[in-house]
Amino acid sequence: MDLGLTDKVVLVTGGSKGIGEGIVRSFLAEGAKVANVNRSTAEGLAMEAEYAAVGKECAFIQADLCAVENCQAAVEQALARFGRLDVVVNNAGVNDGVGLDASPAEFVASLQRNLIHYFAIVHHAVDAIKATRGAIINISSKVSVTGQGGTSAYAAAKGGINGLTREWAVDLAPFDVRVNAVVPAETWTPLYANWLETLPDPAAAKQQIERMIPLGHRFTTTEELADMVVFLASPRSSHTTGQIIYVDGGYTHFDRKLTGM
Ligand code: NAP
Repeated sequence: MDLGLTDKVVLVTGGSKGIGEGIVRSFLAEGAKVANVNRSTAEGLAMEAEYAAVGKECAFIQADLCAVENCQAAVEQALARFGRLDVVVNNAGVNDGVGLDASPAEFVASLQRNLIHYFAIVHHAVDAIKATRGAIINISSKVSVTGQGGTSAYAAAKGGINGLTREWAVDLAPFDVRVNAVVPAETWTPLYANWLETLPDPAAAKQQIERMIPLGHRFTTTEELADMVVFLASPRSSHTTGQIIYVDGGYTHFDRKLTGM
């Protein structure tokens, strides 16, 4: 299927690792140009060089998105480099375990890690996206609808992201801009691997989680997440907007007799 993404310009936050890296690589494979906005530097520069060597543009833009002024600067740098934006993918985030016992200040800081920059990036990019009749994709989490325990701020952020997805889809429909969310549940990434390492028996915990994923009893791959994102970014999904789409092997919604094995 030709997704019609050749030479489209895509801004991805957190594109150096995990799901974001998968998204960046999938857009590049479809012929798009990418601005990868990421905090740490080494992986982003390495990806930029890797793609430059084969004539593709994967521009690394260093920014810690927790500071809203960095969000504006990142969008401006992407526009200065490419002159246009067709797609924004809000992806950077972390399940940081800021629970009910945390202080209100810690709660606010967690929202800055997971929610505020989704708004700030789109706020600064929206005119450019309107100009190209582009698309926005927000990466959410199953925690937005299931809860998890011990992670109030992340749950609030991801619930907020689902709400913003529908809200922006309404705001931007008159401009032919589509806005959708993709919801991972159990996707194998460095973040996930690091979290498992905090448990007493990581291998056993991994197996236990895999047993609860109905489709194939395995984690979702970053490529499977990315395939949904590139489809939603493409004109092949031209009448899909305001949708919250689970790419999770059935984990979130199937009958408990299938997920509780
Ligand atoms: P990951 O492996 O930790 O990768 C996240 C990337 O985002 C890293 O490159 C990280 O850079 C970057 N990043 C994080 N915070 C940033 C900030 N403030 N400013 C700039 N860059 C930042 O995480 P992941 O598992 O791929 O998760 C990606 C998204 O999917 C997140 O929104 C997460 O909540 C969501 N999600 C993941 C899962 C899952 O199963 N993996 C499940 C549900 C939802 P650094 O290297 O500098 O930290």
